[in-house]
Amino acid sequence: MGHIVYYTTGILILSVFIFVWLEREFPYTKGIPLFREGFWVDLIWYTFIQSYFLQILIFDYIIEPLDHRFQLSRLQLVGHWPIALQVLFFLVVHDFYIYWFHRAQHHSRLLWRTHEAHHSNKEIDWLAGTRSHSMEIIINQTIEFAPIVLLGANPIVVPIKALIDAVWGMWIHSNIDVNTGKLQYVINGPEMHQWHHANDRAVFYANYGTKFAVWDWIFGTAYLPGRKKPAEYGLPYEYPEDYFLQHWHAVKRIDEKQLAEKSAWFRSYHTSRQRLMGWVLKKRRV
Ligand SMILES: [Zn+2]
Ligand SMILES: [Zn+2]
Repeated sequence: MGHIVYYTTGILILSVFIFVWLEREFPYTKGIPLFREGFWVDLIWYTFIQSYFLQILIFDYIIEPLDHRFQLSRLQLVGHWPIALQVLFFLVVHDFYIYWFHRAQHHSRLLWRTHEAHHSNKEIDWLAGTRSHSMEIIINQTIEFAPIVLLGANPIVVPIKALIDAVWGMWIHSNIDVNTGKLQYVINGPEMHQWHHANDRAVFYANYGTKFAVWDWIFGTAYLPGRKKPAEYGLPYEYPEDYFLQHWHAVKRIDEKQLAEKSAWFRSYHTSRQRLMGWVLKKRRV
C-alpha cells in the first residue's frame, strides 16, 4: 500500500509537468501566464491545505465511523473482483452521480453557493479545477470514497481513484487546444469543459460531465459549437479573491474591497502576502 502512493504521487507530479508544457506549446487561450491571477490561492490553499485537512475529515471522521457503525467493509462485497474492474465500476458510478449533482448545483440557488467558487477563475488552466468550496468537496468525496471503503474494495483502489480524479481534473481544465474528434462524445476534455467555465448564458446549463461526456449527450446538455472559443470566463458578478472570504461568501455576500476599506485588521491581513513577497525579494537582494 505504501508503494502505490509513491507511484501515484510520481505520476501526478509528472502529469503536472506534461500539462504545463502542453499548455505552453498548444494554448487554447493564448497569453495565460503560468502564475495567472489566483494561481497561489488555488495551489497553496485549495490544493495543499484544504485537501490535506478535508482528506482527514472525510476518511477519519466520516467514513471510518460509518464503517465502524455498520461493519459493512467486512463483507468484502466487491473485494474479490479484479482491481481494474473495481476501479472502473466506481469510476463510472460516481461519474454518473456527479453529473446529476453538478446539474443540480447549477439549478438550485442553495447548491450554487457550494459551486460558484469553482467557476470564479477568470483564466482556466490545469490548476483551475482545484478551486472547489470545501462543502462541495466534503459532499462529493464522501459519496465517492465511502462506497469504496464500505463495499470492501481493495485498499489500493482509493489512491488509484484519487490519482485518476486529479489527472482527469487537470486534463479537462487544461488550457490545451485539442481536437479529439468523435472521442468528445464519450470522454470529457478541455473542448467541452473550457466552455463550461465560460461567462456565457448559453452554457450555464450545459456540459456538466466530469470524466465522461456521454452523460451530456444522452441527457441533452452537451454544448460544443465547433471550433468557436469562449470570449470570457468566470462569474458574471463580483467574487472575493481571498480563500476565507470565498468560503464566507457562500453564507453571506460580502464586498471584499469595502471590507478592506472599513477594517484595518482585514486590510492588514489582505495585504500580508504582498508584504511577505516584498520582504522575501528584499532579503534575496541583500
Ligand atoms: Zn459547474
Ligand atoms: Zn471545472
